[in-house]
Formats: sequence, structure tokens, C-alpha cells
Amino acid sequence: MANLPIVNNLGFYEIRMESVGGFGANLAGKILGEAGVLGMGFNGSNFSSYGSEKKGSPVKSFIRFCSPDIIVRENSPVIEPHMLVIFLETMLSYPGMLSGVGKDTVVIANTSMTPDQARDTMKLQTGTVVTIDAMKIAVEEKTRVNTALLGTVAAASGFIDPEAIKEYIRKNLGKKYAFLIEPNLKTFDRGALEFTSKFFEDDGKYPAQPFRAEGQKIGYMNQVIGGAITTPGNSIHKDLTVSRSGYIPVLLLGKCTSCGECDITCPDYCFVWDKETDKKGKEVQKLLSIEYKHCKGCLRCVDICKFDALVSRVEYEVDKKIIEDGYTD
Ligand code: SF4
Ligand code: SF4
Repeated sequence: MANLPIVNNLGFYEIRMESVGGFGANLAGKILGEAGVLGMGFNGSNFSSYGSEKKGSPVKSFIRFCSPDIIVRENSPVIEPHMLVIFLETMLSYPGMLSGVGKDTVVIANTSMTPDQARDTMKLQTGTVVTIDAMKIAVEEKTRVNTALLGTVAAASGFIDPEAIKEYIRKNLGKKYAFLIEPNLKTFDRGALEFTSKFFEDDGKYPAQPFRAEGQKIGYMNQVIGGAITTPGNSIHKDLTVSRSGYIPVLLLGKCTSCGECDITCPDYCFVWDKETDKKGKEVQKLLSIEYKHCKGCLRCVDICKFDALVSRVEYEVDKKIIEDGYTD
């Protein structure tokens, strides 16, 4: 059995995965836990925490490994991880993302950035940053980012046996999804190879981010009766960027007839309209752009548009200006 490279005072090597619903963090944690305990002989545990099981809602998965002679009595979330896995580039700068991270932590980030850029985005004081463009791999292999990240986790950990993880990828996909096994194993291998890693000393650039329990701000003493919304209109701040899985709709304005079908279909009110006067002097509504902040990439609008004015594109290949403007000619 492999040795754990580092443990806390209770004897555990601890991993925290930070993600949102739809990217397979829960399954990745389960596979990793099974591979470590059943495949490699460690003792350990895995559980995930999430709210409503819906695409885009926050998900955390926690994995602990220890030697087989230690009894696992620890069942709380991982607060000082030896490995932190961040599933989405947009989450790198989220408040509290680096909570509990120290110089011995390996931070694995799904991003196209270099480790230096990712460190600056996260404002990491010290530790190892590993970057892997798991979204690009997933799009190219038609899989999901979780398997690519598992490959990086195995390679960057220095002790997790990649063959054990592959066995549990096969078992979890099983006969029902047998056609997904080969692309997922390829995704895993690419994740194990295509990453970049760099250790950062504490050079005084950023402060430490110790773990802080935020606690509940609203409880039985101060909850508004009837669940009233005290900040009406706050959905303007709703950012669904993290929910996208690599694809976005692109609006080809030259082909658009402003028929409005996409607007009826879109569940998130992403389409921006304005009034216009037509040739007959009549006031009509004109489609101007897509507000990508609210777009979760479901592509229903692409299916519904009869005029081919909406097309599906791989997000990282789309010109940033088109995303800023919300349309192209
Ligand atoms: S469905 Fe197509 S043509 Fe109609 S408003 Fe939307 S983008 Fe324009
Ligand atoms: S892909 Fe289209 S329908 Fe789906 S959220 Fe984005 S704009 Fe709306």
C-alpha cells in the first residue's frame, strides 16, 4: 500500500472539491473515495454537501484517507485541505474559496491560465498551484471535466494509483454507460498529462486565508415573516456563467427577424430588447443582444430559432468581444 505524503494531527490526508451542480464533483469524490479505500487499501470516507440538486447550485465534495489501523470517526467538512480541487475558472476568485489553504496544500484549478495567473486571480499566499484546461479536454473528448480533474488529482497527489481510479470509473459507468468508458479513460489520461504545476513561497504578495465559519446571518430571530423578498429586483445580479458546460449560443444579428421565439423559450431572460420604429412608422420590439451573465448554456434558443440566427459554439473559441457585445453581425 502507498504511503500518504502528509497527514493532519488526526492522521488524515484530506481533499476538498469545490464545484457547482452539473460538473460531476459528487461522482468524482465517490470514485476517488472508492479507489482509495477499496482499490488501494486506505481507510477513509467521502461525502458531498449541496442544496437543491440543480445545475448551477454550489456543491462541495470531501474525501479523507488514513492508514487502515485508524478508525474513521471524523465526519465533518474538510476545513484545512491538503488538496483543493476547483472545478471552474469563474470560481477561482469566489470569497472563501481558499479558506484553510496553507503552504502544504496543492490547489488544482480547471483553467486555461498559467499557475502564476491563477495564483494572482485567487490571491494565494503560498502553496502549490496546478492548472489544467479540463473544460477544453472535456469538450474535445465529449466527456465532463470531472474525469479530467481526477487524472490531474492522481498525478499531482504523488500517491493515488491511476489504475485504481480507472477501475472505479469503469465500474461506475458500468454496462449502462459502457459507450462512455473509453472516452472517459482517455479524458483521465489527458488530465494526468496536460497540467502545469508551480510552488509559490510566501513572498508577502497576498495574506493567508485561514478557515472561517461564516454561520447563518438569518435565523428564527430575524427571518422576515412569509419569506418576503427584501431586495426586489436582485435577480439582476444572478450570474449563471458557472453553469455552462463549454458551449454558448451566438446571436447572428444579420439573420434575426426579432420574431421573439428565443425569448419565449429562454428560461433565464437572457435576451435584451429595445423599441424601434419600423418602415410603416409602427413601434416594434427589436432583439439587440444576449446578456451572457444570465445564460446557463442550455442551447434551447438555438433549437427554436427558425432563421439560423442563433448558433451553438464552443465558448473558449468564441471571440471575447462577441461575448461582451452579446451579438455578432
Ligand atoms: S428566434 Fe431567432 S430570429 Fe427570432 S428573435 Fe430569436 S434569434 Fe431572432
Ligand atoms: S442557451 Fe439560450 S435559452 Fe439557454 S439560457 Fe442561454 S440564452 Fe437562454
